[in-house]
Amino acid sequence: MLPVYISHPDCLKHSMGDQHPECPERIGAVNDMLLIKGLLDFMQPMDAPLATEKQLAQAHASLYIHELAAQSPKEGTVQVDPDTSMNPYTYQAALRAAGAAVMATDMVLTKGAGTAFCNVRPPGHHAEYSAAGGFCFFNNVAVGIRHALNVHGLERVALVDFDVHHGNGSEDILHDDERVLMCSIFEDKLYPFCGNVPRGPNMVNVALPARSGSDALRQAVLEKWIPALDQFRPQLIFISAGFDGHRDDDMGNLGLVEADYAWITKQIVAVAQRHCQGRIVSCLEGGYVMSSLARSAAAHVKVLLGMDD
Ligand SMILES: [Zn+2]
Repeated sequence: MLPVYISHPDCLKHSMGDQHPECPERIGAVNDMLLIKGLLDFMQPMDAPLATEKQLAQAHASLYIHELAAQSPKEGTVQVDPDTSMNPYTYQAALRAAGAAVMATDMVLTKGAGTAFCNVRPPGHHAEYSAAGGFCFFNNVAVGIRHALNVHGLERVALVDFDVHHGNGSEDILHDDERVLMCSIFEDKLYPFCGNVPRGPNMVNVALPARSGSDALRQAVLEKWIPALDQFRPQLIFISAGFDGHRDDDMGNLGLVEADYAWITKQIVAVAQRHCQGRIVSCLEGGYVMSSLARSAAAHVKVLLGMDD
């Protein structure tokens, strides 16, 4: 089976206002660039299903799931945190985004898809066990990871997160799960203002100062991430693929470029080939300037498809 590309039109209906950076246009920008670059010719497109309550409850408190559903407005918007709000379509989109991670896991583990890329929103890595925040409602990768562990019976799953912001929600959910290794690189002193002190022995958190640039990123990956990943020997790797560390993206100041996203993806692919037959599930997180988001995501997906040489 070809690598899978999972998205859904519902992901475009969730909107937090015309001026909000986490906008519906992000999905189309990524989709269009993958199409223009010819990458979708080498992928099997699939519609994201709705995550079930049982699947969500592997990573979130049942009470939280019910409260979020109850908050979903019939019309207008409901503010969940200062940066995060729900419109009447948000809850459905959040179910699709989490469902995409579940479907991607199934395709990679049982259908031989090899790799999967989920072009979905809302993003997930700031969503905690019992709290939405930072544009996120359900933690898509954490739901997928728990599905891989609890339903497919895997024993070791790795999560790598190269979004410019620390994946505090993923750490909140996964820090006490010894079946998981989480590697996170993020800009220091940036939202969500945590991560410097890892919450568990299974967390490899690397805070990079603002304006660190490509060399610091690459050194941190080679010195901190790769040895930990090789020692852990993951059976499947999830990627929280955020592209807001790009130098054109004003959300952060790491000063990265497309080549860095291609390089880091190449390192992850190599780990996956050493330990788990190349199996990778990648889910879109941040990236807020349409052109750099689209170019970076395309560079990432091209390497996932093994077409970088
Ligand atoms: Zn981010």
